[in-house]
Amino acid sequence: QPQVSLKTRRIIGAEALVRWRHPELGLVSPAKFIPVAEEAGLVVQIGEWVLRESARQMTEWIEQGLELQSMSVNVSGVQVQRSNFADTVYGILVETGCDPTLLELEITESVVMNNTEYVISVFERIKEPGVRLAIDDFGTGYSSLSYLKRLPLDKLKIDQSFVRDLTHDPDDKAIAGAVIALARSLGLKVIAEGVETQDQVDMLVEMGCDDVQGYFYGKPVPALQFAAVLMKDKQ
Ligand code: C2E
Ligand code: MG
Ligand code: MG
Repeated sequence: QPQVSLKTRRIIGAEALVRWRHPELGLVSPAKFIPVAEEAGLVVQIGEWVLRESARQMTEWIEQGLELQSMSVNVSGVQVQRSNFADTVYGILVETGCDPTLLELEITESVVMNNTEYVISVFERIKEPGVRLAIDDFGTGYSSLSYLKRLPLDKLKIDQSFVRDLTHDPDDKAIAGAVIALARSLGLKVIAEGVETQDQVDMLVEMGCDDVQGYFYGKPVPALQFAAVLMKDKQ
């Protein structure tokens, strides 16, 4: 799915959103199978595959001359806890020839909840070559904000539940505004997800949000189609 800069209104990045093409069930949503894969421990292998495939695809696009600054990949807490995650990320970057500064990992607040010290040390290592770190679904998970100053963060992603009614619900507007202000003062970038209307875009511009993602600018599409969307955007 494309990520769009509100400054230039151009596509600057992509988020990798996995789907399972099941022979009988058709396309299965990650919201359905990722939690099951987490319980079964399979998310480690699936997540590694997604990461490798995203890095490989990004390298291919850059070699083709496509202008893209960022590839975001969702990372499950189980991946961070159970596998040798920093080594896995390094290995995949080397193997695919992907520039580390093009990769952004998205974690949710819950990932930081368990084993905080360990998680912080993992991400400190991952960040060394320039990989970026974002908090996904910000504002829906952990209530402690103290991790914000301890994790080596680059970006907050405003959860779509605050974006949905942004233009008519003053509470959502207040929360989105507070997240943007928080990001600003911590020197972090901020992106809003689930943006579906022009009115939401206008309000987010006014509020000083950096980037947006959502059906208004583009739904998640297969990689081949994404390249076409990107080329059209650059014309
Ligand atoms: P997420 O990372 O917060 O991704 C945003 C979800 O919102 C995606 O659902 C996306 O398709 C959807 N979305 C994007 N724009 C809009 C919009 O304008 N309106 C609405 N209503 N929805 C929008 P999706 O693709 O079903 O993914 C659901 C969740 O599954 C993701 O939430 C993420 O947490 C997880 N996920 C997806 N891919 C992976 C993966 O490779 N690894 C792991 N661990 N989790 C993944
Ligand atoms: Mg995400
Ligand atoms: Mg999200």
